[in-house]
Amino acid sequence: KSTRSSVVIVGAGVSGISAAKILAENGVDDIVILEASDRIGGRIRKEEFGGVTVELGAGWIAGVGGKQSNPVWELACQSNLRTCFSDYSYARYNIYDRSGKIFPSGIAADSYKKAVESAIQRLSQEANHDASTAHDVAVLAETPSTPKTPIELAIDFILHDFEMAEVEPISTYVDFGDREFLVADDRGYEHLLYKIAETFLLTSEGEILDNRLKLNTVVRELLHSRNGVLVTTEDGCVYEANYVILSVSIGVLQSNLISIRPPLPRWKIEAISNCDIMVYTKIFLKFPHKFWPCGPEKEFFIYAHERRGYYTFWQHMENAYPGSNILVVTLTNGESKRIEAQSDEETLREAMEVLRNMFGPDIPDATDILVPRWWNNRFQRGSYSNYPIYADHQQVNDIKAPVGRVFFTGEHTSEKFSGYVHGAYLSGIDTSKALLDEIRKDKERKTENQAFL
Ligand code: FAD
Repeated sequence: KSTRSSVVIVGAGVSGISAAKILAENGVDDIVILEASDRIGGRIRKEEFGGVTVELGAGWIAGVGGKQSNPVWELACQSNLRTCFSDYSYARYNIYDRSGKIFPSGIAADSYKKAVESAIQRLSQEANHDASTAHDVAVLAETPSTPKTPIELAIDFILHDFEMAEVEPISTYVDFGDREFLVADDRGYEHLLYKIAETFLLTSEGEILDNRLKLNTVVRELLHSRNGVLVTTEDGCVYEANYVILSVSIGVLQSNLISIRPPLPRWKIEAISNCDIMVYTKIFLKFPHKFWPCGPEKEFFIYAHERRGYYTFWQHMENAYPGSNILVVTLTNGESKRIEAQSDEETLREAMEVLRNMFGPDIPDATDILVPRWWNNRFQRGSYSNYPIYADHQQVNDIKAPVGRVFFTGEHTSEKFSGYVHGAYLSGIDTSKALLDEIRKDKERKTENQAFL
């Protein structure tokens, strides 16, 4: 069956929903939103675990307290979303070695300072050289401060996989402020999406009833031409539209889930395939009782191991949910992919060994574990885009640029805020504004042609 609408939006994550809202507000309300999974939210996703609501995807509202107001923070305030102020800068003073000793703060501070200096040095080398010659690569690899010991590796991991703010100005912090708030609300971070959706979609008691949103609808093919776009789904439905907005992640764009015909131009394919993807995994562990230190500046702690990123970054959830007895450990990239491929029992065994190294043999076993799999999810293929700090703006612009009637949105199209919820939210607005402009120009062209005829 075929239905024609003005715009088909592929994906109902934050960017898809914010794009739809802008279109609807501007009179383009014959839209269809096709979402592969059985829910809206995409990489904003809650789950009940150990008696509380945990966030498997985005957890923090980053960029609060600055000159400009972060629109996601505004939405959170309007919706009375429960959040906790979060500061992981002192995590570097809670670094455990394999025998459970905490590194003296002087040593930790020194290692941290060295790591920051080395990162700055590396970045400026990368910016000044194009490290394409064998010599340059060798020079970069031989930086004297290459992390080697467990504490250096742990700090390198924290700096590169979490922070970087002390190395390079990050637009989120510069524009919106450097405070971060952890979402700790039973309704989940995704509640904000329902609040946006209810301004233009038919909803009742938190449920979206509007038939312009089609869940469990996996787009597999886009056929585009000068006249319009045909969108074919896995169940064989065809949606006809004047335009399409693709809000799927950069990982999905790199995969072969959606075939686009005629194929995207070479510059577009290159920009997409050159974008790095970060895999970021939060593993939740539930315990019968607490055995870790609580109190001020103890929320985050670090495990220093000879393998970089091996169960390095830990957080207890007592500030978010007192009495929940939950720990969260964050793994990234190679370690994320490794644990995604193994059983949760194996991961639990590894995590318990690490915890026993830190807190002794007598701690209780975890009673439950939750391991999200962002990498193996064919509707995600990773957690978020990761542009090099000295990214050439052309790459983001190419990823964002429309191709004929196919428009692109999502966190990976945000020049300033890629990787964040507010980046995705603002990108949806930007893309829809560009599309509205195009629709207006198209109308003008048609009127001129008619006048001419
Ligand atoms: P998505 O949310 O991925 O939306 C795209 C939608 O497209 C999805 O719903 C998907 O199911 C759908 N889709 C895919 N393929 C198809 C198809 N073929 N047909 C139909 N639909 C399809 N950001 C922060 O600001 N703070 C954080 O603390 C933070 N932590 C994070 C931690 C993790 C583990 C992850 C994964 C992300 C985190 N982020 C964080 C990033 C943030 O979640 C994302 O930037 C943002 O949610 C992306 O929104 P989006 O609309 O661009 O994409």
